[in-house]
Amino acid sequence: MDIKTLMIIGAGQMGSGIAQVVAQTGLQVILHDKKEEFVNRGLGVITKNLSRDVEKGRKTVDEKQAILNRIQPSTDLSNAKNVDFVVEAAVENMEIKTQIFRNLDEFAPPHAILASNTSSLSITEIASVTKRPEKVIGMHFMNPVPVMKLIEIIRGLATSEETYRVVAELSDYMGKIAVEVNDFPGFVSNRVLMPMINEAIYCLYEGVATPESIDEVMKLGMNHPMGPLTLADFIGLDTCLYIMEILYEGFADSKYRPCPLLRKYVKAGWIGRKSGRGFYVYE
Ligand code: NAD
Repeated sequence: MDIKTLMIIGAGQMGSGIAQVVAQTGLQVILHDKKEEFVNRGLGVITKNLSRDVEKGRKTVDEKQAILNRIQPSTDLSNAKNVDFVVEAAVENMEIKTQIFRNLDEFAPPHAILASNTSSLSITEIASVTKRPEKVIGMHFMNPVPVMKLIEIIRGLATSEETYRVVAELSDYMGKIAVEVNDFPGFVSNRVLMPMINEAIYCLYEGVATPESIDEVMKLGMNHPMGPLTLADFIGLDTCLYIMEILYEGFADSKYRPCPLLRKYVKAGWIGRKSGRGFYVYE
């Protein structure tokens, strides 16, 4: 594996987590977002996570500082000229992602692999806007990235064997477990998870039970670590809606119809933890 510097695009929940994990492995990171305030917010989350590790005795103050020193902020995409690998973790929107990949294809050196952390969008379609589709791949991290072991790796139609090998090796280097899947809407994780969350929202919408009761049934009855509505708030209801729409359109099957209540919450700006309100209210 010949990777020294990675660029992470999007300093939100996922991008900041990915940047932290990469920097912890000793690699250099460029953390990029549209505005300086977004990059700083991401760096703030990383600093808070690392400070908690120091308090709990999992890291020393020097280790924390060394990790932070390896993360360089960016609001200029041309910084991709100095990287070996990119992980895009901007919003779940095909137009935005293809625009980013078109630009990255111009700036990043020819050897660089361009990965997307998309939850559901077609890697084949994202790859098609570049002149290096063999070097484009899906690298789907789970939330929260520093804690969760899985990376779902998605091969686009043109992804090369070599690209897959490097990504599997990088995942292993970061202490994660890579599972290979093919390019279908929602891959495996969200094709199974999101309809369950959507159905839980329908239960609320139809008055079957309160949010607390729905979550309690799934926690105590199915042994899930958190209920589906708590999980939806954690993922972000905007992301949940994007994914349901991609499943609904991608399979042209009414069983994936997004619950109208999910749409209503997103329209209201009640998009979960990150906005302070979703199915629950957060301080
Ligand atoms: P988020 O809203 O927390 O963060 C998205 C970030 O992308 C924001 O900081 C935003 O400013 C930035 N951004 C938007 N457009 C950009 C652009 N053109 N250039 C650079 N930055 C841009 O969202 P998130 O939860 O971190 O999700 C990011 C991606 O990860 C999505 O594709 C999502 O589907 C995927 N994902 C999310 C989860 C989850 O649990 N939330 C899990 C796995 C994968």
